[in-house]
Amino acid sequence: MQNSTIRVETNPVPLGKSGLSVFPIAWGMWRLASPDGVDDIGAVIARIEAALEAGITLFDTADIYGAGEPIGFGGAEALFGKALAQRPDLRARMIVATKGGIWLGAPYNSTRDYLAGAIDASLARLGLPYVDLYQIHRRDFLTHPREAAEALSAMVDAGKVRHVGVSNYSPAEVEALQAFLPFPLVSTQPEFSPAAWEPLYDGTLDQAMARDLAVLAWSPLGGGRLVTGAHPAAAVLAAQGARFGVDAAAAALSWIMAHPARIIPIVGSQTPERILLAGDAFKVEWTRNDWYAVLEASRGERMP
Ligand code: NAP
Repeated sequence: MQNSTIRVETNPVPLGKSGLSVFPIAWGMWRLASPDGVDDIGAVIARIEAALEAGITLFDTADIYGAGEPIGFGGAEALFGKALAQRPDLRARMIVATKGGIWLGAPYNSTRDYLAGAIDASLARLGLPYVDLYQIHRRDFLTHPREAAEALSAMVDAGKVRHVGVSNYSPAEVEALQAFLPFPLVSTQPEFSPAAWEPLYDGTLDQAMARDLAVLAWSPLGGGRLVTGAHPAAAVLAAQGARFGVDAAAAALSWIMAHPARIIPIVGSQTPERILLAGDAFKVEWTRNDWYAVLEASRGERMP
């Protein structure tokens, strides 16, 4: 059918070959720490509860989140850890994902010793015996993938990490790391949205489908630009959302999820009301024309 509609399903998405499944939308904590340095654990818990109420099960953080804010490196993990310490009942409802491998100024380090220390520090801040998913945040060109793989295998063997993934890796970098791992990588985390559509073309999404990797899309609203109008696709997304009674944010999440890789957008809002609205994304449907119209607006040219 030339113009049949694509509906985004609410059924859980497999986290690669992990055996785990997650709600099709995740929530992220890059912006968790407050810029004024006054962090309220009650407010953190309210955001987590909003995410859980929206149905979200995958919670994404990183050791570096908080760097650049008064709370500093490790701050977002520490806040999340304090929230879980106050509300230990919430942990059982979550797939907890964190990342390591970036150290400000260094800037990347995936050596055995560095990653061994990084996971221990993350677990201490989170107050958890293990995380469900550990991701190398960015590829370190100065570490052989064999060594990075050994570091990741050691974490899994020690029971500190259930599953392993990567972020900001090219498809070739994924292949190289996978070649030295005794288990499959379960996820890849590229920036992907109508404001960052390169993974459609650079093999990231094709590799994920071929290798059965979950795709976690960071900055799904382009950091907010896709809803504030400061992007060429914003008006197209707003119009598409309006057809289904929702906003441009819902349309952007839906556009991402409509891809056959069943991409999982990581919502970055820290406003409970907005986090709760994530499920509006499932109200949007796409004809091929409508979906490609967003891509054309983003690319600034018609499809060839
Ligand atoms: P985003 O969803 O693209 O941007 C969130 C920002 O948009 C927030 O500041 C939010 O403000 C704002 N916003 C404005 N209008 C909004 C609306 N109507 N609805 C929702 N949000 C609106 O995501 P992001 O925060 O840039 O990134 C999301 C997650 O991706 C991060 O938390 C992190 O887990 C992950 N990430 C990973 C990497 C990596 O290298 N792997 C890099 C960056 C991010 P309010 O908070 O005021 O709602």
